[in-house]
This record gives sequence, C-alpha cells and structure tokens, in this order.
Amino acid sequence: MNIVLMGPPGAGKGTQAVRIAETYGIPHISTGDIFRAAVKAGTALGAELQRYMSQGQLVPDDITIRIVHERLQQPDCAAGFLLDGFPRTIEQAVALDKTLESNPIDVVLSIEVPDEELIRRLTGRRVCQGCGATYHVDFNPPKTEGICDKCGKELQQRADDTIATVRNRLEVYNRQTEPLISYYREQGKLVSIDGSQAIDKVFQDIACHLEARQ
Ligand SMILES: [Zn+2]
Repeated sequence: MNIVLMGPPGAGKGTQAVRIAETYGIPHISTGDIFRAAVKAGTALGAELQRYMSQGQLVPDDITIRIVHERLQQPDCAAGFLLDGFPRTIEQAVALDKTLESNPIDVVLSIEVPDEELIRRLTGRRVCQGCGATYHVDFNPPKTEGICDKCGKELQQRADDTIATVRNRLEVYNRQTEPLISYYREQGKLVSIDGSQAIDKVFQDIACHLEARQ
C-alpha cells in the first residue's frame, strides 16, 4: 500500500510513521532524512541541498521531486511505502502522481489536532542544556521545575518552540496544506485521523483505516 502521511508540527507524525512502517513492513521515506543523508554522504546533490538548508531556505520542488522519484524506484518500495514530509505543495502532489502513474497513492492520512492543543504541546517542551534530555511542563515535567533530573543543569525552551514561532509554523503549515488536503479529498484518498487522542489510540485508528482499505 502506498501511503502519504501528513500532520502539523506537534501532531506526533514521526512516532506514527515509525509504527506504520514497522507494522506493515514498508519503508518510511522522509524527505528530511534523505536530505540529511545526502549532505552527510558528501555527494554533489548533498552540497546543493546544504546550500539551501544552511540559508534556511526550502529545497526547490524540482530537486525534491527528483530525489523522491529516485527513492521510489528502489526495490524496497515495490510492495508499498510511507511518504512523510512530501508532498508539501500541490505542484509536488501533481508531480508525484505523474511519477507513480500505474502504481498510485492509495491513501493519504492526515493527522489533525486543534491549533490550541498543538501550541500547548509545542510551547511546553524544554531541553536540558547539559545532556540534551527533553521534558514537557505538563506531560513529562522534571522533578524540580527548570532543572534536569539526569544531570542537574538548566532546562531551556528552543527558539523554535516559543509561542510566536509556533503560531507562525502552524500558520505556514495550514496555508500550505489546505489546498493539498482538498486535492486528495477530491481524489477520495483523504482520511482524517484525530491526533488529539493518546498515541496508541491514534495508531489504532490509523491501522483500522488501513486494514479497511486492503
Ligand atoms: Zn541534563
């Protein structure tokens, strides 16, 4: 089964992606992971990607599409795959459909969580300056406020997790994906998953939908 997984930052998409890939024995294809691997391998493409990423720019569509196309030709994708982080735009979705031709996307899972809940999840994250341990002020608090249980150093909020940045990230996500969600809804492929539930329940819902379609 060919699956696309979508979800805003803080929706738990990464966790669900790993579980889906393990349960159904399909490769988890994350464009972010492929980009980082190419940079690490030091290929010509990697050097090009690094230029965009180090400047905080999005990798252009044509490059991303080429990379995904190449990855999907690998033998491990023959029995299905899980795409994570791609497509992000209508242009990418149309290009993906062209690439896949006779072996199209079967289902698009959209993990949905209200913005206010995402803001609570993301702005509550704290990271230890000493050992990198992560906490959450509501869901996984340290024993002493602001202090790491493991090494006693100070906990801080990442710049990416402040309320203004989080609101902006969610706005960008919503603006980008609204047309994409309509595109897949019109194709009859969109499945909305309630991501505000517990992690296990979210996965149960996903499994239920996937098994109904097999
Ligand atoms: Zn620590």
